[in-house]
Amino acid sequence: GRRKLVVGNWKMNGMREHLGEVEAIGRVAAAHPSVEVGLCLPATLIMAGSERRGAAFIGAQNCHMDISGAYTGSLSAEMLAEAGATWVITGHSERREARGETNADIAAKSAAAHQAGLNVILCVGETLAVRDAGRAEQVVADQLLASLPEGAAADWLAVAYEPIWAIGTGRIPTMEAVAAMHAALRAALASRIGAEADRMRILYGGSMNGDNAADLLAIADVDGGLVGGASLSAKKFAPIIEAAD
Ligand code: 13P
Repeated sequence: GRRKLVVGNWKMNGMREHLGEVEAIGRVAAAHPSVEVGLCLPATLIMAGSERRGAAFIGAQNCHMDISGAYTGSLSAEMLAEAGATWVITGHSERREARGETNADIAAKSAAAHQAGLNVILCVGETLAVRDAGRAEQVVADQLLASLPEGAAADWLAVAYEPIWAIGTGRIPTMEAVAAMHAALRAALASRIGAEADRMRILYGGSMNGDNAADLLAIADVDGGLVGGASLSAKKFAPIIEAAD
């Protein structure tokens, strides 16, 4: 079976004073070894966070697609790995939308991350307009295949399905809609990578919390979660990790 993967995305949150939460989450992770737990921290906390991570891994939230060069303000996958990250998020909607990242950019970033030895959480998801038009599964499957890097394999890449309208809103799709989407994404993966698709983890993200995690994680093709707001404290994140165990 696929080991459940529960990852916090701290987005632009977290100062040194919050490293105690990293430590506390690392202890929760240690208490649930059957679950793979991680925190994608702001880059400024990766180094200090990796010293206090316990059984949780530390990830980054973005990387550049090139190894080095004249890219003011950017960080390469190799730099993030040296700082202590072992994973990186690519293709989050907050970067696809606000920073204009294309599917091709995301495939290139994911490949660069793998080249540097990082594991990847590749995010996809639809807008409310697409959902309301009844086109969500087709659009998100197309987005996934267009942003999937060459040679994608389950031992270094996981997919996160994050409906944009569910992020930070407290709204989530019905369990039926989540099940249908995850099944559609696995079928799309199978069309590209064959049997490897059965080993690849597909996470759900968007307003996941201690109250809805157990139901979401019970869906056959939901292999974990990518959690924003509810990952900022051990108190809120622990019930999600427990629900995955
Ligand atoms: P929330 O859990 O705050 O809705 O954020 C989800 C998300 O975007 C994780 O990457």
